Amino acid sequence: MSFNVAIDGPAGAGKSTIAKKIAKKMGYIYVDTGAMYRAMALFFIENGIKAEETDKINTKCKDADITITHENGEQIVLLNGKNVNGMIRTEEVGNMASASSVNREVREKLVELQQKLAKKTDVIMDGRDIGTVVLPQADVKIYLTASSAVRAKRRYDELTAKGERVDFDHIEQRIIERDHRDMTREISPLKQAEDAIRVDSSDMGIDEVVDTIIKLCQNKQSK
Ligand code: C5P
Repeated sequence: MSFNVAIDGPAGAGKSTIAKKIAKKMGYIYVDTGAMYRAMALFFIENGIKAEETDKINTKCKDADITITHENGEQIVLLNGKNVNGMIRTEEVGNMASASSVNREVREKLVELQQKLAKKTDVIMDGRDIGTVVLPQADVKIYLTASSAVRAKRRYDELTAKGERVDFDHIEQRIIERDHRDMTREISPLKQAEDAIRVDSSDMGIDEVVDTIIKLCQNKQSK
């Protein structure tokens, strides 16, 4: 049986940074499910499909072949055979991912892929519905959160470091909107699983969060 760790939480809570570090230390494969929704969103943008065109989204998503490989511990997302890692980290793609991920067909397709990955190897998987829907039997479930101001600051720093010109208030506003959409959508809304452990990273350093979660994993593995 593979060992599965689920990390859910809102945008900018630090899920991917933390999950990557834990994966490295514990020898798990890191699976970033947001990147899959982003690749799907890129596919819609490239095909001129708008967020509100739900019929088109539900039909066209069948033509998007999304696969995941790993190179030196880094996850590579292939969209119809092409590595799209360098194209999915923009605000435009993030907002389209949030809007298009409300659609049933999109979710069913990607959840199936995620479940297959978790079945065959030890994974630490991050997203919004991992502990609740994708891996309800996960060995360790974490709900990682932080205040919207702290999360906006992190996203702002990340984007400006990459040379994107962004406005802080605008970023915070989009984060609040995205949280709202992710938490209130009909299918698989973002919420803490009943058996998940809540970790608020607003006033915690990265290593502190990493160590806290590793201890939980070790406790579980030694049982
Ligand atoms: O985590 P990230 O910001 O890359 O995810 C982009 C969007 O994809 C999220 O805002 C969310 O709407 C969607 N998503 C999802 N379910 C997941 C992971 C991401 O709906 N498991």
